[in-house]
Amino acid sequence: MHLMKNAEADKLKELLNAPKKIAIIPHKNPDGDAMGSTLGLRRFLIKKGHDATVVSPNDYPEFLKWLPDEGTVIKHDLQPEIAAKTIENADLIFTLDFNHFSRCGDLQPLLEKSSAPFIMIDHHQQPNDYAMVTYSDVSICATSQMVYHALEALGGLDMIDKDIATCLYTGIMTDTGSFKFSSTTATTHRVIAHLIEHGANNTQIHEDIYDTSSHNRLKLLGVALNNLVYLNEYNTAYITLAQEELDANGFEKGDTEGFVNYGLSLKGARMAIIFIENKQEGIVKISLRSKGDFSVNELSRKHFHGGGHTNAAGGKSDRSLKDTVAYFISILPQYKKALNA
Ligand code: 5GP
Ligand code: MN
Repeated sequence: MHLMKNAEADKLKELLNAPKKIAIIPHKNPDGDAMGSTLGLRRFLIKKGHDATVVSPNDYPEFLKWLPDEGTVIKHDLQPEIAAKTIENADLIFTLDFNHFSRCGDLQPLLEKSSAPFIMIDHHQQPNDYAMVTYSDVSICATSQMVYHALEALGGLDMIDKDIATCLYTGIMTDTGSFKFSSTTATTHRVIAHLIEHGANNTQIHEDIYDTSSHNRLKLLGVALNNLVYLNEYNTAYITLAQEELDANGFEKGDTEGFVNYGLSLKGARMAIIFIENKQEGIVKISLRSKGDFSVNELSRKHFHGGGHTNAAGGKSDRSLKDTVAYFISILPQYKKALNA
């Protein structure tokens, strides 16, 4: 089992030994793992007698809005004053599923100002060292699995109820591509088995996350697939979505989730990337995926102000959509050997 290290677990126990006001923070544009891990941890802390609140940097897609106690989440973009107060008043701050304050948008200055001790639980590469307790393990598939191990280290597995199980199951399912990515281990399956025993309904959760597309989303997927370009020489697929294509198909937050994976389903593909224009923020949002040892984390860190994991990363570009794609194509020759290995 990937338990927390004893030293970290002891510090965590100490910090939680009396009732505290706790803020729990996911990264900006939170995904299933960010929301599953924060909401699962929140419910556990409340059962332990703490006053715990999830404060998200911004709103998230509809397909996450059925999660247990989702309605309690404070979103900084919608309720900035309450979000700021909650962070200012916190005795303790958990940061989940990210490891650098720059990942939490407009919450960054509030976190930097806080004098509360931080506890990081995260599985991304190159953690920053702002936390009193850093539980960082890049080998674990999901932060939600790490929350399970943290509860385990605290002797709290018996407190997992249907709601906690549902939250953690959701995070593990979404971050493993439904248990198929290479980060999925026998331990992951043991954790999942335990979560199902404690009430997680696997079929229902899968449906609630994946079978809620609007007709518009499927039309947008049609546009994305039609725009897909495959660069044989580099075993690389890329997709573009321009702002006008998003607008023409009634784009809503979360609609493009998963599109990038279609590129990787091409036979022989080693890397897939999607470029999504966001005129409002004046950026192109980028998602990258790879197979095998090719690190999209490194590529994104170097070229797209981003990062993530070896096989899944994100980033952004301040150039136009057209120039971003041209830049991407211009850097590929330096990766040709690795992409053909
Ligand atoms: P996605 O492509 O699904 O948005 O993100 C893939 C992975 O990369 C996730 O683990 C996510 O946390 C990380 N990620 C996404 N965007 C960024 C970014 O702009 N910067 C960094 N450092 N990581 C990102
Ligand atoms: Mn994650």
